[in-house]
Amino acid sequence: MVESSGDRGTVGGGALHSALMSRRIGVMGGTFDPIHHGHLVAAEEARWQFDLDRVVFVPTGRPWQKPMGVSPAEDRYLMTVIATASNPAFTVSRLEIDHHGPTYTVDTLRQVRAQQPEGTRLFFITGADAVLQILTWKEPDQVLDQAEFIAATRPGFDLDRLVSQVPGAAGRVHRMEIPALAISSSDIRARVVRGAPIQYLVPDGVARYIQKHALYRTPAGADPPDPPPEHGTQ
Ligand code: ATP
Ligand code: MG
Repeated sequence: MVESSGDRGTVGGGALHSALMSRRIGVMGGTFDPIHHGHLVAAEEARWQFDLDRVVFVPTGRPWQKPMGVSPAEDRYLMTVIATASNPAFTVSRLEIDHHGPTYTVDTLRQVRAQQPEGTRLFFITGADAVLQILTWKEPDQVLDQAEFIAATRPGFDLDRLVSQVPGAAGRVHRMEIPALAISSSDIRARVVRGAPIQYLVPDGVARYIQKHALYRTPAGADPPDPPPEHGTQ
């Protein structure tokens, strides 16, 4: 069964809230190459709908499934910081960026959990299309043990069918409708290559960063290779 929303109603902020309620932390993982308004809308909507205390953005190290032409981790990290700086509930973690060797979602979630008070509920925020990918990779039961999922549905996506394919996912995967956002990082990179505008698709500071550092000027795969591929991720 896919739940439709958070189960905690609107709660006033402040000390009483934190003292009485367990903390609810959103985790938004991604390559963020670059971060765009789709990511930000999904994170903010999750914060609102699921009454999250905080959303932690976790840019990946060097993703093994996207080995070619991924921008340096430091650029992706800085763009994520620039994009999230003005939201008091958003933070950015260097967990995966600073990790050498492959990183797995389950390990990242364990480490985020270790930094939180006991009883904290973690919510992994992802696009609905990415849920199945993550849950069919390594140790889906352990991932679901560490965190519930908030799946941002894009138009026409059959989340129920997807969830029914994953044992243990029932009740741990929540649906979140977001405004139809067809924005993707790959489209933004392709736009830069052909000189099309990216204004309004990414925050201004991110657009300026891309211009200043001449990111995405060449098609994917044509960039000079990054340093040794020791940063894998899942
Ligand atoms: P790419 O086009 O390179 O795959 P992307 O736009 O999908 O990039 P990622 O960094 O791969 O961005 O995605 C991080 C997370 O954000 C994933 O869970 C993905 O499903 C989700 N996501 C990506 N684009 C959107 C969007 N427009 N609306 C909601 N969620 C999104
Ligand atoms: Mg993607």
